[in-house]
Amino acid sequence: MHSLSAIPGKDKTLPALALVHHMDVVPIIDADSWDYPPFGGIVADGHLHGRGTQDMKSVGAIHYQALRKCAQLGIQPQRTIYLIAVPDEEIGGFTGTKLLLQSPLFAHLAIGYVLDEGLASGNPAAVFIKTSERKPLQVRISATGKAAHGSHLFADNPIHKLVQVCASLVQEQQQRQATATTLSSLGQVLSANITSLHAGNTATYNAVPAEAEAIIDIRVPHAMPAETARNIVEHAVYAVPGASYEIVACVADYPLIDQEQTILFAALAKACTFHGIEPIAYHAEEASDLRFYWQHGLQGLGFSPFTCKEALHATNESLPLIDLIRGYEIICTFLSQFCY
Ligand SMILES: [Zn+2]
Repeated sequence: MHSLSAIPGKDKTLPALALVHHMDVVPIIDADSWDYPPFGGIVADGHLHGRGTQDMKSVGAIHYQALRKCAQLGIQPQRTIYLIAVPDEEIGGFTGTKLLLQSPLFAHLAIGYVLDEGLASGNPAAVFIKTSERKPLQVRISATGKAAHGSHLFADNPIHKLVQVCASLVQEQQQRQATATTLSSLGQVLSANITSLHAGNTATYNAVPAEAEAIIDIRVPHAMPAETARNIVEHAVYAVPGASYEIVACVADYPLIDQEQTILFAALAKACTFHGIEPIAYHAEEASDLRFYWQHGLQGLGFSPFTCKEALHATNESLPLIDLIRGYEIICTFLSQFCY
């Protein structure tokens, strides 16, 4: 269940701004290896320690404090500002943000702009503003042959066929790796990772199986149509007789807004610069809830205003207090310019 707070704007014709964070965190699997209790919220050495400090309870706290300050000022903004907290981002957002956006409530809110989670930059002089994410495309590759004894020179071996297709996709990925030059641009490059291989029987050394199968996790850059990625798979598969493919999951293409060219980006970048921090447009490798807003054609950016080393989902996740305080100041400046 999501939660919603708001400061109503004067001008109801202006699209509202939503400050969004997810409430869930990833589980702790190694509590003993943490320096501080992962759910202790301990402040030590100038850092706030614990699960969710970067991903993304601190961002929610910054949004809340900034909204609270706006309310205390007693001046009504021009556009409505919402604070939205959602569940289930870490398990795909299908039972959180996706449901919210399908609800009549969301249409009623008339939201045009969204700030959601981003990534710490690892650069003391800069912050990342996430402007795109890659679209997942999961594919099952199958190869068929004939079960035979392992001694046959002319065995119709499905594993050999599968290896040929996989080798072609591995080569594709390796060629593209060379074009990824900066951390902020990794999300502009297609990747194709083999995540599962299944064939034969590990207890039998001399039997060629009749079938072999692989799962490939492909991530398609925002600016690349999903069809282009499908063509790459098709090309690799059709070159090998006896191989076929099936799409298991695919995120549909959505309106191609260059989020770096929006008024939302301009206002946020200006607020960062005002506080002496360089804003860098960042293209993410992985997907988040933002994709649902982009699918709706909204202007949306991922912004976790942190300069520390990224530690999402990591043991000893922590956040420097300086990042927390400065992040709050950046958001206050942004709100004063974008909403008042
Ligand atoms: Zn997150």
